[in-house]
Amino acid sequence: MQHPFKEFQEFVAENQPLAPLTWFRLGGPAAYFARPRNIEDMRAVLSRANEAGIPYKLLGGGTNVLVRDPGVEALVVLMESPHFSDVSVVENRIKTGAAVPLTALISQTARAGLAGLEILTGIPGTVGGALRGNAGSRQGAIGPFVSRVTVLDSAFEVQERERDDLNFVDRESNLDEPVILSAEFELSQEEPESVVRRMRRIWIVKKENQPYGHQSSGCIFKNPSADISAGALIDQAGMKGTRHGGAEVSDRHANFIIAHPGAKADDVLHLIDQIQQRVWQQFGYELELQLRIW
Ligand SMILES: Cc1cc2nc3c(=O)[nH]c(=O)nc-3n(C[C@H](O)[C@H](O)[C@H](O)COP(=O)(O)OP(=O)(O)OC[C@H]3O[C@@H](n4cnc5c(N)ncnc54)[C@H](O)[C@@H]3O)c2cc1C
Repeated sequence: MQHPFKEFQEFVAENQPLAPLTWFRLGGPAAYFARPRNIEDMRAVLSRANEAGIPYKLLGGGTNVLVRDPGVEALVVLMESPHFSDVSVVENRIKTGAAVPLTALISQTARAGLAGLEILTGIPGTVGGALRGNAGSRQGAIGPFVSRVTVLDSAFEVQERERDDLNFVDRESNLDEPVILSAEFELSQEEPESVVRRMRRIWIVKKENQPYGHQSSGCIFKNPSADISAGALIDQAGMKGTRHGGAEVSDRHANFIIAHPGAKADDVLHLIDQIQQRVWQQFGYELELQLRIW
């Protein structure tokens, strides 16, 4: 068969290892892997994938994705080009490309004296990934600050989605178009020093409670409700420290699984299964995944 992305060789590779591009650092390669340099590349490569019947997946910072051991039979498209990384501030609005790291955006808003997004301090990944999954914490989520999002729709046309048309609930959004390109946030003006102080406080608490510095992927499960946390259920089920192969339930935060050297994606999947069964048997809650499994 002719290579389906032959004329895109400058930015499409075959059989690309994905583990180094995810925070779990596990799993196999992508059959095809694109690093589009601009929106024209993006549209062209996605259109070709469609014509050839090849599924595609967008990869941001890889902080919420577990790739299975055999890899992904799809085109994986990495959002990283400077073309998707512009940031501009006008009064209390900030417009940002989807490839911008969320932490960089938060620092920039704080320096510009814009408050709101600092509640997301310590959440890794890109703006695109955060919008897709309505990233957040107990202090709140990204959704309420969004005024507009620019996307590529399923015909790969650029579309604007306005605030009234957007829905952010729990760790989900209705941004289900193939690509989130950029977004605009409406924030409130405040002294940079007080915003930075809040960022520092949030960061200290996060570092104490989450296992940073390990191979992991943030919370594995969604909370069953606002007042029942998945982590507390897993802890009460006595599963902190439980291991399967190289994967272990973190003893710092029970909703995190950490991968030790030599771990396989399959070890994590087994442990996920074990946790779901135990929590169901003991408490009658079906834990739903927050982690995306590819
Ligand atoms: C140590 C650690 C702590 C964490 N703490 C938190 C936390 O407190 N709160 C929280 O909510 N999350 C947390 N997470 C999870 C993760 O950081 C967030 O879900 C993050 O927003 C994902 O962004 P990403 O760019 O890494 O997305 P990825 O992991 O790359 O992708 C996640 C999903 O978004 C899609 N996607 C990514 N970019 C785009 C785009 N431009 N267009 C369309 N789709 C896209 C992908 O296809 C995939 O379905 C944590 C993770 C880690 C590793």
